[in-house]
Amino acid sequence: MKVSVAKCSQYSPEDAHIALQEVLAPFGGLVWVREGMTIGIKANLVTYFHPETAATTHPVLLCELIKMIRSRGADVILGDSPGGLYNHFYVNRIYSATGMKSAEAAGAKLNQDFSAKQASFPEAKAATTFTYTGWLDNVDAIINFAKLKTHGMIGMSAAAKNMFGVVPGTTKPEYHYRFPNTESFSDMIVDLDEYFKPRISIIDAVVGMEGNGPTAGTPRHIGAIAASESPHALDLVCAKIIGISSENVPTLQAAIKRNLCPSTIGELEIIGDVEQFCIPDFKLVDGARSLQFNSGAKSKFGKFTGKVLKRFLASVPKLHAAECIGCAECARICPAKAITMKKRKPVIARDQCIRCFCCQEFCPKGAMKVHRPWIARKLE
Ligand code: SF4
Ligand code: SF4
Repeated sequence: MKVSVAKCSQYSPEDAHIALQEVLAPFGGLVWVREGMTIGIKANLVTYFHPETAATTHPVLLCELIKMIRSRGADVILGDSPGGLYNHFYVNRIYSATGMKSAEAAGAKLNQDFSAKQASFPEAKAATTFTYTGWLDNVDAIINFAKLKTHGMIGMSAAAKNMFGVVPGTTKPEYHYRFPNTESFSDMIVDLDEYFKPRISIIDAVVGMEGNGPTAGTPRHIGAIAASESPHALDLVCAKIIGISSENVPTLQAAIKRNLCPSTIGELEIIGDVEQFCIPDFKLVDGARSLQFNSGAKSKFGKFTGKVLKRFLASVPKLHAAECIGCAECARICPAKAITMKKRKPVIARDQCIRCFCCQEFCPKGAMKVHRPWIARKLE
């Protein structure tokens, strides 16, 4: 399995163009793009944040890719289903905030088809049926253009997780409930990657997000772009760059178990020097190194012990009240209905919380953080 990495120091059209050509070259560039095709670019447009916040795929990179595809005579549709509503008004507001109007000027159509379709995928491990965004039926191939960020629930958001954006935003909470633990949720993500099989996945790691990601963290310069035909192989390299063990990225573990990815980076064919981009002190989400409990326990005692440990040692969302503006977005988005607003502050019913970290991901002020209990930190 091949992964390519190239230097891209800044978001300038010239640097972006050179880096994209370099990372795509080992896969034959874009020779597979033919005149008359329609290529879908699945970007990461998680919410209405400006590109400088490093929450979304940067428009300069997207523009250069769009121009490269258009020069081969193909059309481009760019889209994503962010968290929240999936309709014309909401998504177009996100296009504006994330700089996607420049992608339109570069020759892409911004997706305006907000239909939802049903898929049946009997070979799936978890998502044998699911709802997806209908615009993907209108494209001949998908390019998965993700952003490298930390993530509250699964440690890292990169290529594999980006494909969760094929699920309409309004139905995403239901998926957290249907796949309530990290293992089943990760299996579902890998199923989506397998079903849609992006032709190539690219990572925007020019500036990534560290800390309280994937929306409220801090931008961190990395200076790289990477690509692979396998989103999981690409994620293995991304994990190395930000210094998170693949064991603490459940989507990677799910892919490794299915032989979709080797378990170590040494088994990959890497084109480019990854080491120069590795950041040893990249700040991970608190809890991304958390201990695994009850994995595979079969006996009643083992399961009971696992549950008890999980309850006391697992990371949980925690409010930093001083940063909270009382907007109630967390209560609205919580799939488990575990949050109630009291005196304009969210209160979490711990016994109802399924630790999906949607409240942390979609808090507009970053007031909800991932909290790892003191004892878990000590035990680590
Ligand atoms: S979404 Fe964030 S700011 Fe809004 S109420 Fe919840 S914690 Fe407070
Ligand atoms: S409180 Fe937060 S982490 Fe818990 S279920 Fe609700 S959204 Fe998910």
